Amino acid sequence: LQYAPKPHFVLVPFMAQGHTIPMIDMAHLLAKHGAMVSFITTPVNASRIQSTIDRARELSIPIQFVPFQLPCAEVGLPDGCENVDKVLEKDQVKKMTDAYSMLHKPLVLYLREQSIPPSCIISDLCQPWTGDVARELGIPRLMFNGFCAFSLLCRYLIHQDKVFEDVADGNEFVVLPGFPHHLEVSKARSPGNFNSPGFEKFSKKILDEERRADGVVTNTFHELEPLYVDAYQRRIGKRVWTIGPMFLCNTDTSIIADRGAKASVNEKHCMEWLDSMQDGLVLYISFGSMARTVVSQLEEIALGLEASKRPFLWVIKSDDRPTEINNLLPEGFEERTRSRGLVIQGWAPQAMILSHPSVGGFLTHCGWNSMIEGISAGLPMITWPHCAEQFLNEKLIVNVLKVGLAVGVQNITHRTMKPHEIHVVKRDQIERAVVELMGEETGAKERRMRAKELKEKARKAIDEGSSYSNIRQLIEYISSRGTQTDVQ
Ligand code: UDP
Repeated sequence: LQYAPKPHFVLVPFMAQGHTIPMIDMAHLLAKHGAMVSFITTPVNASRIQSTIDRARELSIPIQFVPFQLPCAEVGLPDGCENVDKVLEKDQVKKMTDAYSMLHKPLVLYLREQSIPPSCIISDLCQPWTGDVARELGIPRLMFNGFCAFSLLCRYLIHQDKVFEDVADGNEFVVLPGFPHHLEVSKARSPGNFNSPGFEKFSKKILDEERRADGVVTNTFHELEPLYVDAYQRRIGKRVWTIGPMFLCNTDTSIIADRGAKASVNEKHCMEWLDSMQDGLVLYISFGSMARTVVSQLEEIALGLEASKRPFLWVIKSDDRPTEINNLLPEGFEERTRSRGLVIQGWAPQAMILSHPSVGGFLTHCGWNSMIEGISAGLPMITWPHCAEQFLNEKLIVNVLKVGLAVGVQNITHRTMKPHEIHVVKRDQIERAVVELMGEETGAKERRMRAKELKEKARKAIDEGSSYSNIRQLIEYISSRGTQTDVQ
């Protein structure tokens, strides 16, 4: 017997862009610190990030992307349903999670055959079956949850104390017991943890495996929210490895640009357009990978932006809408805003855009990846949460860190809702928020100043601060557990 030369981490993301992107960043971060990584994926998901895979190979980064065929037919899913954005019905999401759990056997077999045996599995909260795989292989399983510590703590307390058990109205606010300060939460604006009918077993498995996990890995950094990181760690009674902002470990723009999907815009054209704008004046608008904006809302956003008279770069998701986006926007909008506006239909190289000096603000749906990217770029933000934990993230950004300005969304605007149920934010609300965020009033300047300070802290955390020492400690901890391998 001999000890493996370097620790071998097996990463198993949940297949939705907001979950896979941070795990790709994690793979690079681990590799940069001397670990080897197997990144588990599927053919459809791998094809989306082909250029990232090719680039890692070109640069001899020790990450192997391992595509497993998902048994879609066996669970009654159409072929190729391998990513959450391919399945719209809840019933199909359930089937997809079943299909992933069927990768248990093939994954164990594959990992047993590796010349460098696996030392640790880091898997998404939503891939709880990987806990059994880790136990079968006798290695630790760390759980990755792409929330910030503020929202992780809220989620934990909400489930632990069954806070909403006796609350009939989803919009009723209740005080969250055990939180470090006064905080009111409502069921409709909290992460659901798959608690809808049909998901009982899956949800229970998630919670069980969360309890059994050997630790939690998150994409935040201690200096950003020490109160909540410490409180969360105390509550769950296990190590929380804060190692973010993970994407900052990459300096190669070709890795950062296409790590979610191939951009729908010519990146050079996009950067040249930004180059032509004045520093700090462009507002970037994007609602992440999942949200789809109803036409009536697109119109209000367009007219709000137009009235604000500010330069903007607006990303509109359109993959389920073959129509040219201009046909959905108010007549003449494109001509009237041509000199100061760029609309991207589809996928934008967001992390690159945010770090361009011309960008001075971010209108965001408050997905945590977007928020941490915005924080890393030193940007003040207009917050427009849609669903899940995004309303909690908004509280951290607006009330605690004070770098955000709420546009004033009152209800969830999730894409599974019927269009008539969606609360449309009016153009004058949007105009007011844009003018206030991008303006020169004292509040705006202070927000900008605080955002710049957070940018410095983020960079420092990953280069030499808490996240740097945490990733090193994590690798040492896993190495010291000594994975053993047979010498042939
Ligand atoms: N993203 C991107 N281009 C797009 C839309 C999203 O690069 O056009 C990336 C974004 O940079 C972030 C992730 O996709 O890393 C979205 O994750 P987030 O948590 O913000 O939101 P979700 O998509 O999960 O709602």
